[in-house]
Amino acid sequence: MNVYDHPTFRMACQQFDLVADYLQIPTDDRDRLKIPKRALAVAVPIHRDDGSTQVFQGYRVQHHLSLGPTKGGIRFHPDVELGEVAALAMWMSWKCALTNLPYGGAKGGVNCDPRKLSITELERVTRRYTQEIISFIGPQVDIPAPDMGTNEQTMAWMMDTYSVHMGYTVPGVVTGKPVLLGGSVGRREATGRGVGYLANRAMDVLGLDSSRATAVVQGFGNVGSVAAFSLARFGVKILAVSDAFGGVFNGAGLDLLALEKHIASHRTVTGFPGGDAISNEQLLELPCDILVPAAMERQITEKNAARIKCRILAEGANGPTTPEADQIIGQREEIFVIPDILCNSGGVVVSYFEWVQDLQSFFWSESEVMDKLFRILENAFMQTLNLSRKNKVSMRTAALILGIQRVHQAKKTRGLFP
Ligand code: NAD
Repeated sequence: MNVYDHPTFRMACQQFDLVADYLQIPTDDRDRLKIPKRALAVAVPIHRDDGSTQVFQGYRVQHHLSLGPTKGGIRFHPDVELGEVAALAMWMSWKCALTNLPYGGAKGGVNCDPRKLSITELERVTRRYTQEIISFIGPQVDIPAPDMGTNEQTMAWMMDTYSVHMGYTVPGVVTGKPVLLGGSVGRREATGRGVGYLANRAMDVLGLDSSRATAVVQGFGNVGSVAAFSLARFGVKILAVSDAFGGVFNGAGLDLLALEKHIASHRTVTGFPGGDAISNEQLLELPCDILVPAAMERQITEKNAARIKCRILAEGANGPTTPEADQIIGQREEIFVIPDILCNSGGVVVSYFEWVQDLQSFFWSESEVMDKLFRILENAFMQTLNLSRKNKVSMRTAALILGIQRVHQAKKTRGLFP
């Protein structure tokens, strides 16, 4: 039995196998590339505010150590399972290699619903989870960051818990911290801005005029909201956005600032008076130039892939498109895919900058961060596009080829240990 067995892990393996076949990677090497190096499952008991005790399940998976320490987010969500975390760790590996960062991939998570926990309960979950994985992380070992359901405050608690354990402040143990505590300017916005930058580059490639373009965003959280604002700055009209509770649509374009105010008081996009209600399923099938899935995995499947009506599929989320849907989209030449490991890589790139700044205790300006970020994204985008055109493969296959080849080469050059 494979302890990682889960639909999302099977999906990540399926993607890997397709590329391994294409690259003719020897069978002996495949399991070494696929199976995570190590994983930890922990119990996270906390006292609830009402005096009761509850135990949550937490995980951390490190996919490979061949290129340096591991790097990857921490997810707080009721669907978190070991296999899902392992899939996300594998994708982090290909993403870091694609962007030439000196990291292997990792991911972690706690199976909990952060919306049903008070702020003090969230702090207890975070600190106890960190304590349980403390010997597994560190600036030279494994460096967590935010993901779904976690944010700068979560990273501040993690950094503090680790520092208390060590007896001195260790900012480099996590990234995505508040700037005040050694975070990098631009980290919070990095993933969404990267999505905006790359979608704009895709519009250049397709000859689309951004000031006439429209976009739809599924998941108006950190990544989705910043991506929407970033696209709006390029002149793109945002037709619809959603969250876990539903979506809003306005054919004339949503007023994003008014929407933000609504979210600040209601904690959801639903009920926004500046648009009509729409379901997440309907939203994915709206005609638009740019569709940005920025929520969960496996949203575009064989059931709806034939019905999506965009020119550019900009994958802000990790794993939003299943391999079956990919096959259908592959037949639809009018759709240009910016695959997840490229499209949302801005987050880990600026996390890398944050780690470098922390290790040197020397901090950069926002323009330095953004300039370096866009240079790395441009390079990864062009390498992927050129390979996709030269070898006549999809953008996803090209991005995976670049990532997987680098990890494979590192493993072959180093030997069996990492
Ligand atoms: P977040 O928690 O800030 O936001 C997630 C949003 O998605 C929320 O609005 C939530 O309500 C919504 N959502 C949840 N389930 C949904 C569903 N079934 N349908 C529609 N909306 C739903 O999380 P985030 O950090 O923005 O992450 C979003 C995605 O981007 C995840 O796939 C994550 O792995 C990926 N990602 C995040 C980063 C980062 O820097 N935060 C980096 C790379 C990739």
